[in-house]
Amino acid sequence: MRITAVSTAVIEANFDWTIVRIDTDEGISGLGEAFFSPGLTAIIRELTPLLIGRRPEHVERHVRRLQLLTAHGSAGGGVIHHAISGIETALLDLNAKSLDIPLWRLLGGKFREKVRVYADCHAGAPLESYGSVLQARPTPWLQSDEQPSRGVALEADDFATHARSTVKAGFTTMKFDLDLPREAHEDGWSRRIGSMLVERQVEIAEAIFDAVGHDAEVAFDLHWSYAAIDALGLARRLEHLPILWLEDPCPPDNVEALARVARNTTVPIATGENQYTRVAFADLITRGGVDVVTPDPQKIGGLLELRAIAALADTWALPIAPHNISSPIGTVANAHACASVPNFIALEWHSSGVPFFDALVGRADDPVIQNGHIALSDEPGIGVELDLDVCRRHARAGEPFFA
Ligand code: MG
Repeated sequence: MRITAVSTAVIEANFDWTIVRIDTDEGISGLGEAFFSPGLTAIIRELTPLLIGRRPEHVERHVRRLQLLTAHGSAGGGVIHHAISGIETALLDLNAKSLDIPLWRLLGGKFREKVRVYADCHAGAPLESYGSVLQARPTPWLQSDEQPSRGVALEADDFATHARSTVKAGFTTMKFDLDLPREAHEDGWSRRIGSMLVERQVEIAEAIFDAVGHDAEVAFDLHWSYAAIDALGLARRLEHLPILWLEDPCPPDNVEALARVARNTTVPIATGENQYTRVAFADLITRGGVDVVTPDPQKIGGLLELRAIAALADTWALPIAPHNISSPIGTVANAHACASVPNFIALEWHSSGVPFFDALVGRADDPVIQNGHIALSDEPGIGVELDLDVCRRHARAGEPFFA
């Protein structure tokens, strides 16, 4: 079997879902997904000649070769790793299909039949849509009078209502943004929290825990917003609550700052969605910068890289909770990898507000996520296939569509 084509399609959802397809001369194809980025599909096109004519079986060798030729083998290659991630998963999917086995079997088998998914509830408001450079755009599936109003600071009651409805939808795990809109800061650039904002953050967190009671676990995301000392002050003010994790309290580049926060609070600190490859995670973990490791499989280099990072975390007795903003292709692929490692808490799901999430893989009547879990089937490969008509309807203009 030889690789004959590598192609992409971009679906305009809450983010640009970038799907990678790899075809072979035996008629077997595989699907993967890469984390959005400006110029991403052009990079994948540049990498394609490195794969054409090669045997798809040697997945790790292809990944290592692409890493060496583009990122010089280091974690510093940025967007290159997004492209490689999509290619890696497409190769795994097509290999599993050619063996007629589910992907989880290629990854070492399952620790669990169903993979727990946590609902990303944002800041309690309706879902927004962002382009490749994170500029908010009109949400494609909403009419002009239904567009979410941006930058509005919601009240604690709004968060509590959203938390209750998420429990009702069957989720036992959820996450809210606690870095409130910039307008609420005295200065959105300073990385300060300020005493008034801390009081609002604590009030919102308490309201959410009051709302969910013992029915769900709750994490909070701070999106790298704060100075270490301010983030630490907030974490300590939240210690009376059973917080699952507090995510990305300060900028991701400085492990010492993260370690300062992590070492000085009982609230578990989560980070990892901005790191690439096991090399960066080794540094983060060994220097004590993280309690809950949150790699993004569509960024780090793919599902095998996720397994390597999970093994590294497990050596330090740390759990993983992968970051995920993918379409159902990336999300279910990630679920296979999450089922295959012991130290797993929950997989993120960012798309409860995207009305065509299930229809994209022909599952409108049989949702991919049910009662807050993904059940892995014995279908070959990832086990979900694109409905190309639905994909075409939501394809981003100006991007190739598996051409
Ligand atoms: Mg996050």
